[in-house]
Amino acid sequence: MKVYLNGKFVDRQAATVSVFDHGLLYGDGVFEGIRSYNGLIFKLHEHLDRLFESAHTIMLKIPLSKPELADAVRQSLRVNKLSNAYIRLVVTRGEGDLGLDPRKCTRPTVFVIADRIELYPKKLYEQGLELITVATQRNVPEALNPQIKSLNYLNNILAKIEAITAGYEEAIMLSPSGYVTECTGENIFVVSGKRLLTPPPYIGVLRGITRRSVMELGRKQKLDVAEELLTRYDLFNAEECFLTGTAAEIVPVVKIDGRVIGAGKPGPATRQLQAAFRRLTKTEGVRY
Ligand code: PMP
Repeated sequence: MKVYLNGKFVDRQAATVSVFDHGLLYGDGVFEGIRSYNGLIFKLHEHLDRLFESAHTIMLKIPLSKPELADAVRQSLRVNKLSNAYIRLVVTRGEGDLGLDPRKCTRPTVFVIADRIELYPKKLYEQGLELITVATQRNVPEALNPQIKSLNYLNNILAKIEAITAGYEEAIMLSPSGYVTECTGENIFVVSGKRLLTPPPYIGVLRGITRRSVMELGRKQKLDVAEELLTRYDLFNAEECFLTGTAAEIVPVVKIDGRVIGAGKPGPATRQLQAAFRRLTKTEGVRY
């Protein structure tokens, strides 16, 4: 495997960063996870836009333009002869000293890893997932806005650990006032009648790129799509529930905190959206 690192393609073993890199010392950096399907990079420009917004927010100047970075992604896929892949695009503050001061970091570290996609077990999509809500609350936008896709994922990891410790794969995180936000690496949706609902970004969720695609597909399927505050009650009493994310795509949820959701199996709206999403990934994207 060849990894793009600061302008060069290097072997996996040589793809290393300094222990003084603030990405490692402080989680000071930003990233994106991108998918390619059959030689098409899905939503590449949307991912690049979000990466640049995250970087701008933390005042990190990415040393490449968007077209240059897009080229690095395309080349990473070509060099590694991948057609279906998961791409990790990372920009860190770079090497500094042991203090926090970002001014000491003069050169951001940029790397792109393109690897074979590790698909989730098929069972997950056929049988659906069981979730629990956890005590770890989602970061509040006023402190560390979840909109910034930063290298600091401890908030999410703490929630994930809680789920795993309790015997579940994924956790629902709440806001400090008890509203549903998102899972540790996916957005959440419910279907109630003709309504397709997902929490609004201001409550503290990442504006997922899959989330946006699913909202658009929902509108095309004549669902009434809205961003709305949701409580656990709304989840428990929804007809259908599912999660969205670049890696996971659309994952049905069949049980939350012991309550069966709807019929206890992936519902018709979820399955229709999954099919429409699959079609979209086959037809849309940036060729390489
Ligand atoms: N929420 C969080 C916290 C995430 O890390 C991610 C991405 N893994 C998502 C939601 C889903 O976003 P996207 O659809 O853009 O991958």
